[in-house]
Amino acid sequence: MPEKIFTIPINEAFDVLDGCPLCRMREKLEEQTLESALGAAMMEPAIRIEMNREGFCSPHLLAMHRKKNKLALGLILESRLDELAGLLGEPARGKKGLFGKKDDKGDAAETLTAQAKSCYACKRIRNTEVRYCSNTAWLWDSDEAFRGKLTRQPYFCLTHAAMLLRVAKEELKEKSYASLYAAVTGQLRDALTRLRQDVTGFTVSFDHRNADKPLTEAERSSLERATKMLR
Ligand SMILES: [Zn+2]
Ligand SMILES: [Zn+2]
Repeated sequence: MPEKIFTIPINEAFDVLDGCPLCRMREKLEEQTLESALGAAMMEPAIRIEMNREGFCSPHLLAMHRKKNKLALGLILESRLDELAGLLGEPARGKKGLFGKKDDKGDAAETLTAQAKSCYACKRIRNTEVRYCSNTAWLWDSDEAFRGKLTRQPYFCLTHAAMLLRVAKEELKEKSYASLYAAVTGQLRDALTRLRQDVTGFTVSFDHRNADKPLTEAERSSLERATKMLR
């Protein structure tokens, strides 16, 4: 049984028919996460430790920089920069030993590689998205009206189709998973086929023999729609 608080925004997102419903939820979640990171969350010592340890990916750091609260970002960065500087140890020394490993105690090459990939916001968002998927699967299993809403969606983007099916595979009984699988992959197949036709309409418009033929709106927007569907 999922937390009720999550089924309400899911139902609201699935009431709208415009692209991927889980992308709409993610956009809101991303905004809330970044707002909170620069507000209440940065005052919580435990969360601050997490921010210092995880850091922020480039798109999220840029998004935070575009927001108003520069003092909060400055304070977050101060302790994050200290944390990073503290990770820089001695380089790995010596020849490869018996087990083919250098003595890399203190060497930061691997740590920095992990640090360059980690992000406090991405991690939080992903954890909540997985819960959204879990509750979407639960609603599919238990609420007939919701099944209708999901079936009417134009498609799930690649990331959310994958996430939803993976979670549902773990959590639903075989029959319920099979019906959700058919719905999601059916929508995606139809959406990819339509998109393929529109992209082709767009590319052939560059042929001089089609110079007089105007593009349809669907063809004109096809590349942009692809960036949303294939995210
Ligand atoms: Zn999506
Ligand atoms: Zn991020």
